[in-house]
Formats: sequence, structure tokens, C-alpha cells
Amino acid sequence: MKQKIAIVLALLLALLQTGCSQRPIAAQSFALDTLLSVTLYEGGSMEIAQEALTIADESERVFSARREGAELYAVNEARGGELSASLCRAIEKGLFIAEQSGGAFDIGLGAISSLWNFSGESPSLPDEGALADAVPLSGYEQISLGSNTLAFANDAVQIDLGAIAKGFIGDQMKAYLIENGVSSALLNLGGNIVLIGQKDGGDFAVGIENPNNTSKVAGALFASDICISTSSGAQRYFELDGKRYHHIIDRETGYPADSGLASVTILHKEAAVADALSTACFVLGEERALAFLNEHYPGIHAVFIRSDGSVFATDGTPFKQE
Ligand code: ADP
Ligand code: MG
Repeated sequence: MKQKIAIVLALLLALLQTGCSQRPIAAQSFALDTLLSVTLYEGGSMEIAQEALTIADESERVFSARREGAELYAVNEARGGELSASLCRAIEKGLFIAEQSGGAFDIGLGAISSLWNFSGESPSLPDEGALADAVPLSGYEQISLGSNTLAFANDAVQIDLGAIAKGFIGDQMKAYLIENGVSSALLNLGGNIVLIGQKDGGDFAVGIENPNNTSKVAGALFASDICISTSSGAQRYFELDGKRYHHIIDRETGYPADSGLASVTILHKEAAVADALSTACFVLGEERALAFLNEHYPGIHAVFIRSDGSVFATDGTPFKQE
């Protein structure tokens, strides 16, 4: 339903913009299971904006673990093998942050996430036995990456790049746009925002959704030349017997992470890193997330929204609460 509304909105926006070549130049598409938009404020053209969206379309054929025919899907099926350079780099980055976060962010939980099937039409509770079997066989430790080959340590483990792919692709789109003369732009890949340069010589204002009331914003970030990723329990979920099951999984339990947080937003130069870290911090919970960020990413800007609605931003984060 949310997706249908998003498509209708995108069409309306496209209609409104037809025939006017004024700035900003805006293009949208639907890929990677989400609405994507590219808005150019300085440099580039409509063709360049659309070409950037094509990068996302093509990447879906590489990074999707669910789409038959995608490279990652085939690698999971074939239990390893040779990888394209792009998939190899994404997995390498994923394994690095998985290890760094002690598996809070873990690309090796595909066997668990596919049992939940949050991106399917009617997600439901997975079979408990199947989940209990998948948990001990899952995890980044079961995956070994060679220079361009991949091997799995058991028959069950599978790779899921869902928590890093949008960021990784955002970085690729950003590089393409900059190479093609874009000096000010905002890309939105389903909650992963990439800011290129400044807007009108100042900061962009980026609203952060209130995860406890998604028709409202919790506040806004004022920033430029940075990537912003939010992982939220309100992004994708289903409800059963009054309980909400969201799509961010704690691989220790196999169940949705229940860490007292409703969303985490991370700012980082690299969208792939911001994407992975927002997922990691959501799973870790506030206290452990802050210790983790302090150790590995000192000075990083982050906004935590707790389940009770209260907000915590790290020192210096340019966030204004609504
Ligand atoms: P979104 O996709 O809404 O931006 P995330 O970046 O947090 O949110 O990614 C969530 C997706 O990543 C899930 O749909 C699932 O495919 C996968 N995933 C779920 N939990 C984890 C986790 N702890 N570590 C890595 N990937 C995860
Ligand atoms: Mg993520």
C-alpha cells in the first residue's frame, strides 16, 4: 500500500515537472524495492539525472538476494563462486562492518531474513524450527571472500545485502553525478540520503521521520556534502496479535531487534557506511551503539529516537527537534 502511494506521488511529481526545464531538475524511479529520486540543483541535466537512476536499476540485478537472475541470488544458489568487481567490493565492505560491529550488522543473515520475507506480499511469522536451525548456521564468520571468489562454510548460510546495498549504490550514483559536472544535488534512495555539495550556498534541510508517528517528522538535519541513513522499525513491518514485527533482525535471536530504539540516523561521508552503521546501531541499542561509535567512528553525528519518543543526538549533530 505504502509503495502504491509512493508510485502515485512519483507520477504526480513527474507530471508537475513536465514541460518545465527550470531548476531543480528532478527524476524518480522505483527500484531496489523502494522509491528513488535524484534532484539536481547545480550542474548536470535531466539525461544525467536519469542515467544516475539507471545505475540503481542495473545494480538491482547485482545486489538482490530475492530477485531470480540477480548475481547475488545466483551466488547464494550456487554456494559461492566468482564475483563481479562491484559485488565483490560490496561484500568486502559488508564483511568489514559486520566484523567491526560484532555481527550487529551482518550480511550473513540471509537464511534468517528470507524466512521472514519482509519484502514479500504477505509476510508472516517464520516457522520456529526453521528459524532455530538457521540462526546457528548464519553469520559473516561463515563467509570467506577471496580476491574475486566467495565460499560458504556450510550449506545454509546466505548473504543479504539489504542493509548496505542502497548506500553502496548511492555512492556509485554520487560518483557518476560528480564526474558529470553536478555540484549540488540530493539523492533519496528509500531513506538513504546523499547530499552533493551545498544548496544555494547553505545547508540542505533533511527531515527525519518520526518513527512513532510516520505522518510527522521528528525534526530536521541541516547539512551538506554528506550521506544520511536512517534505519527505522517503522520502515517495513507487519502486525500480528497486536505485536509489531519489523525488518531489522538481531542475528543472535533470529527475531526483530528489540533494543529500545525506534530509529537511528547516521551521517557519514560514504553512504554505504552510513547505511550499515544505522542498521548496526539500531540492533545494538543506544548504550552499546554509542560505545561502538566512540571506539570506531569517534566524532560521528547520529540521532537516536527511542521507542518512548525521546531523542538523543551525539555532540555537534546539526539536528533541530520539531
Ligand atoms: P532499510 O532497508 O529500510 O533502509 P536497513 O538499512 O536497516 O533498512 O536494512 C534492512 C534490511 O537489511 C532488511 O530488510 C534485511 O534484508 C537486512 N537486514 C535485517 N537485519 C539486518 C542486520 N542486523 N544486519 C544486516 N542486514 C540486515
Ligand atoms: Mg542500513
